[in-house]
This record gives sequence, structure tokens and C-alpha cells, in this order.
Amino acid sequence: MDRLPSATTEDQRCRLCHDQVESHAHLFFACNFSLRVRWLVSNKAKMHWPNLPWDELLEWLQQRTTPTGNIMLWVSFLVLSSMVYHIWQERNRRRFDDHSQPAHMLYELIARQIRVQLMEYPNRQDIPEGLKTIWNIED
Ligand SMILES: [Zn+2]
Repeated sequence: MDRLPSATTEDQRCRLCHDQVESHAHLFFACNFSLRVRWLVSNKAKMHWPNLPWDELLEWLQQRTTPTGNIMLWVSFLVLSSMVYHIWQERNRRRFDDHSQPAHMLYELIARQIRVQLMEYPNRQDIPEGLKTIWNIED
């Protein structure tokens, strides 16, 4: 029902896991590749999201997040939106460029992106020590 448009109609298989039919729900909720990335990132971030589709989670976070508000919510939002972005990029790379990266490479890219965004946070002194340790932020 929510299949994504693709260049050909005959191959609707997910390029990330090569196992299921591709859909938004599959890509961001049920795909083994995406779940592997999510596991790696969640483990690093020490974050555990409710078991909801990612678009619902993003919407929930977006409604509660401002860069100057609760920093933990803001970081949760950064992490989740970064995962969605990189998984979608990977999907497109595999579909259109015939080039692929493993889950741990996506994890590295996501971790680097979060670190940079935290380094650019205007009130770095307000970042809790726990977060600085996780994301390797120096004072
Ligand atoms: Zn898949």
C-alpha cells in the first residue's frame, strides 16, 4: 500500500535486506538492516525508544523539541532524524548508484554527525557530563 516509487516496477524488494518488499513501514521499522543500525546507535547513545514506527517517533519528538529546550529530547531528535536521513541515503545509493555501505559505516556517519551538532551547540556548558562522555565532547 505504501510502496515507494522506484525506477522499475518488477523489483520492489528492499535493497537494504534483500528480503522483504520495500515500504516506508518496512524501511524504518522492520528492516533487519535498519534495525541493526538502530541497535548500534541506540547502544552508543544509551537511548531506548518506544517500539513505534519512526515517523510517529519523529513527529512526537519534533513536537516537543527546541534547540534551547530539553537537551536530552533534542539529542533524541537529532539521533533519530540522523538515522532516518542516513538509512534513506543508503537506500538511494543502493538503488541508484549500485554502491553499498555496511550498517556499522552508517553508524559511524551518524555518530560523527551527532558529535558535530553537539560541538556546535551554543551553550556547550549546559551539556550534561554523561552526554559529553558518550559523544566525546571536550570542554
Ligand atoms: Zn529491508
